[in-house]
Amino acid sequence: MKRVKKVLLVLLLLMLVSQIPFAYRRYKLHKLNSAIQLANSKHNVLETDQGYKEYRGVAHVHSFLGGHSSGQFADIISAAQANQLQFVIMTEHKEKDFDTAEMTLKGDHGGVLFVNGNEVSLPNDDRLLVLPGTPFADLSGQSSQRNLPGQVGIVAYPESFKSWQSTAYDGIEVYNVYSNARQINPIVAFFDVLWSHRSYPDLLFASFYKRPDENLRRWDQLLTTRKVIGLAGNDAHANIGLSLIDSSGKTLVGLQLDPYPTSFHLVRLHVLLPTDQKLDQTNLLAALREGHCFIGFDLFGDTSGFRFTAKNGAENRIQGDEIALTQNTRLEIALPVAGSIRLVKDGSAIGNDGQITFKEFEVKEKGVYRVEVYLPQLGRPVGDQPWIISNPIYVR
Ligand SMILES: [Zn+2]
Repeated sequence: MKRVKKVLLVLLLLMLVSQIPFAYRRYKLHKLNSAIQLANSKHNVLETDQGYKEYRGVAHVHSFLGGHSSGQFADIISAAQANQLQFVIMTEHKEKDFDTAEMTLKGDHGGVLFVNGNEVSLPNDDRLLVLPGTPFADLSGQSSQRNLPGQVGIVAYPESFKSWQSTAYDGIEVYNVYSNARQINPIVAFFDVLWSHRSYPDLLFASFYKRPDENLRRWDQLLTTRKVIGLAGNDAHANIGLSLIDSSGKTLVGLQLDPYPTSFHLVRLHVLLPTDQKLDQTNLLAALREGHCFIGFDLFGDTSGFRFTAKNGAENRIQGDEIALTQNTRLEIALPVAGSIRLVKDGSAIGNDGQITFKEFEVKEKGVYRVEVYLPQLGRPVGDQPWIISNPIYVR
């Protein structure tokens, strides 16, 4: 009996000790939360009027229409409103016998602009986000699926994409929440949820968010050959969770880890439209195709107001644009919160400046320049991951 007691005691001790790292991870989320609040309290936009107005939204969103999601339109609309988004880009999986792009949210709903896109599977399993979607009658299975004028094609899941030679895409989804989440260790995630979900449901993202090194390398490579825009996809399904359901189908205990309001909070697309244009589908897609946009991990601090511009005396340009190299070509980067700016030229970091809100860079060489911004004040590991990923400026 004594022996059994001893074994039980040791087991109990082991169990308690095994929970120390998770208690510590919860404490770190608490610290991160305070650091984010501090950063947001210092949010200050240096220059607002450069002839462009900024709109924020999310891309790569699924509803119940394309299978493996139970998300309802009303939930998607209210999540967009709660996140103060101005647009949502729907990307429904295609169905053989009905047109999911036609049936999904499009146009204005509750003050939010919806674009009715598709996520198209090619015969070799490559995926393209096609915006707006293509009618089901056109399900030819060819990369020539993009056949409507003004359509935008984005490579989804670049880590498993193969048709790189194709010209059917304008951009690449350099970051995807779902792909990143798939790298989670399920045991670690289980205890993180147990310890931290109640207090920090959104911030749990911080425990697995990682810079998409491989996709960024791929993008930099493509950029040496042609213009390719970079986007982030929320890949919102609202279908990751744990639940206990009784025989009548009633949920007894339910915990959803990726409801739309959380998903729409993590990462967003910030798009710049000329001030004389209104936000509609045509203008939004045109701006995306131009690369007039950046990726902001707004969960870690509001990225609104970030600007990456170029001038050479004769021309003023923004991210996504080309500019000619002259004696006076300059890049300017403005941040809404002091951060660390990493300037990347043709895939290599050429400068790293810490805790500044403005940087001017004199351009001496032609090349493709893009920016990553970090907030080291958030502490590790989040402070080591990008807070903003810009689109490039092409100095020709
Ligand atoms: Zn998807």
